[in-house]
Amino acid sequence: MSEDELKKKLTDEEYYVTREKGTEAPFSGKFYDHHEKGIYTCICCGNELFSSKTKYESGSGWPSFYDTVKDNNNKSYVEEHSDSSHGMKRTEVTCYKCDAHLGHVFPDGPRPTGLRYCINSASLSFKAEK
Ligand SMILES: [Zn+2]
Repeated sequence: MSEDELKKKLTDEEYYVTREKGTEAPFSGKFYDHHEKGIYTCICCGNELFSSKTKYESGSGWPSFYDTVKDNNNKSYVEEHSDSSHGMKRTEVTCYKCDAHLGHVFPDGPRPTGLRYCINSASLSFKAEK
């Protein structure tokens, strides 16, 4: 999908977060307090990113996961990049299919991974489990 098509498909906030690496205000998104069973997908391309099974309450105001969806070869459907913007050393998380910015991953999550994927609701869509 081209940037123009994405601009039409997405809301202004979804475009700002996923294509311009924006961050939504905490406690503002549709998924931080969302507890249904299913799969969180990329708002841009539908790639399956996170499972409700690994979602947990981090108190940050953003949807938080301790792991990502992986394929049969244990390859994650998200990509991680080092990010030194805003004077901080962080690890950015993007969709591996379309490069949408999703959020960041921090090493202060719960077991078993010890990771906290801190993700913007605006970058996600949701497929409920049937
Ligand atoms: Zn994507």
